[in-house]
Amino acid sequence: MFESLSDKLDAALKNVKGEGRINDLNIAETMREIRRALLDADVNYDVAREFTNKVKEKVTDESVLNAVSPGQQFVKAVYDELVFLLGDVHIDLNTPKKPPMVILIAGLQGSGKTTFTGKLAKYLKSKGRSPMLAAADVYRPAAVDQLETLASQVGVPVFSIRGEDGVPLKDAVEVARRAKDEARRTGRDTLIIDTAGRLHVDEAMMKEVVEIKGAVEPDEILFVVDAMTGQDAVNTAKAFNDQLNVDGVVLTKLDGDTRGGAALSIRSVVQKPIKFASTGEKLDALTEFYPDRMAQRILGMGDVVSFVEKAQEQFDEEEAEKLQRKFRTQDFDLQDFYDQLQKIKNMGSIKDLIGMIPGVGKVMKDIDVEDDAFKHIEALVQSMTPYERANPDQINGSRRRRIAAGAGMEVQDVNGLLKQFREMKKMMKTMSRLSGKGRQASLSD
Ligand code: GDP
Repeated sequence: MFESLSDKLDAALKNVKGEGRINDLNIAETMREIRRALLDADVNYDVAREFTNKVKEKVTDESVLNAVSPGQQFVKAVYDELVFLLGDVHIDLNTPKKPPMVILIAGLQGSGKTTFTGKLAKYLKSKGRSPMLAAADVYRPAAVDQLETLASQVGVPVFSIRGEDGVPLKDAVEVARRAKDEARRTGRDTLIIDTAGRLHVDEAMMKEVVEIKGAVEPDEILFVVDAMTGQDAVNTAKAFNDQLNVDGVVLTKLDGDTRGGAALSIRSVVQKPIKFASTGEKLDALTEFYPDRMAQRILGMGDVVSFVEKAQEQFDEEEAEKLQRKFRTQDFDLQDFYDQLQKIKNMGSIKDLIGMIPGVGKVMKDIDVEDDAFKHIEALVQSMTPYERANPDQINGSRRRRIAAGAGMEVQDVNGLLKQFREMKKMMKTMSRLSGKGRQASLSD
C-alpha cells in the first residue's frame, strides 16, 4: 500500500535524518522532494503545495532548528501533516435516530460497492448488530445474485423483489422503501442498501440515488470509491457529495498498487471523512480508517494498533489462559496447533499482517509471502485421526505413511512437521516457565 510514496518520502527525509543541524539548503531540497513524492502519488496539486508549506513553517521554527535531533522533528512534522491530511481523527458511523439504522451505499460501477456492502454487514454483525441487505442495484441481475451470495456467506438476510421469471423489479426506489418496511417488520436493527452505479457520473444514476435517499431517509450515506483511480476518485467523490451530501467515504482496493493520491486528497477537497478502508476481495478485508495509523504506515512506522486489534478479535483472554496452561503442562497437541493456525488465518492476509509490523513491512515488501503458507501443515493435520492429533508421539511409521498419502505429500513432510512441532512445544514450555517465574517474582515483590 502506497509503497512508492513511502519510499520517496523515506528518501526525502534521509537528507535531514542524519544531519546534526538542518539549514535552509537542506530544508529547500527536502521540501522539493516531498512535494515531488506527493505529486507522483497523484495528490492534488494545491493539497501538495499546502502540505509542504505547512511542514516548512513547522521546521523553520527556531525551536526545531535548535532541537537536539532536528531530523526527527522533521519526520514528526511530516507525520503530523499526513495525519491532518488524512482527516486527523477517526470518525465512526453515525448514531441512528431510531431503528432500523439505514445505511445507503453509493458509488460508480466497479468501485466495490457490492463487495463493501457484504463486508460492512459482516463487520456490523461482529459488533452485535443484526443487519439486513437490500438489493437496489436492480439493472444487472448479476448484481442481485452477487449480493445474495455475499449475504449467505455472512449469514444475513437480503431483501430483493423478483418477478415470477426471476428478473429483479426495475424500481430501485420501491425496493429500498419496501426493504426498510421489511427490516422494521422483522426486527433487524440495520438496513444496508446497495445501489446501482454507472461507469461514469451520470444524471439518471444520481437522480435515482437522490430519490432513494428521499424515500428512506438514511442515517448514513457512504460513498464507495476505488482508490486506484487517483484524482478521478477525488472528482467523483466531489460530484456525489454535491448531490447527496454524503457522511463518509470508503476507499477500496487499497491492497492494489495504489499510489495514495485519493486517500491523501479526498478529505481536503471534499471535506468528508474516510470511514473505512477495503483491502481485498475477501469479506474480512475491511478496516476502520484511522488517519494516524495510515500515516504511520506511509512513513514505514508499521501499524501495531491495527495488528493488536485484529489479534484481539480472534483470541480472548480466557482462551489465552487456557493455552498458557497447556503450554506449561505440555498438553498442547496438534489439534490445538491447528486451531491456532486457523485463528491466525482469520486475522486476514499474512502479507497484510506483516505489513503492519514496524520496520518489518518495508524489508519484507518484496518477499512473496503466500497467503496459503499454512496449506501444507493444514493438509497434514487434516489427514490425521483425532487420536493422532492428541498423541503426536504415537505416530509410528505406518501412520506416517498413511497421513502423507492422505495429504498427497511425502513421509518426510510428516517427519518435518512432527519435528517442528516437538521443538515448538519445547520452546513454549521454556517460555511459559520463564514468564510464570516472572509473574511469581513480581507478585512476591
Ligand atoms: P460494484 O460494481 O461497485 O458493486 O463493485 P463490486 O463490489 O462488484 O467490485 C468490483 C470488483 O472489485 C470485484 O471483482 C471485486 O472482487 C473487486 N473488489 C472490491 N473491493 C476490493 C478490494 O478492496 N480490493 C480488491 N483487490 N478488489 C476489490
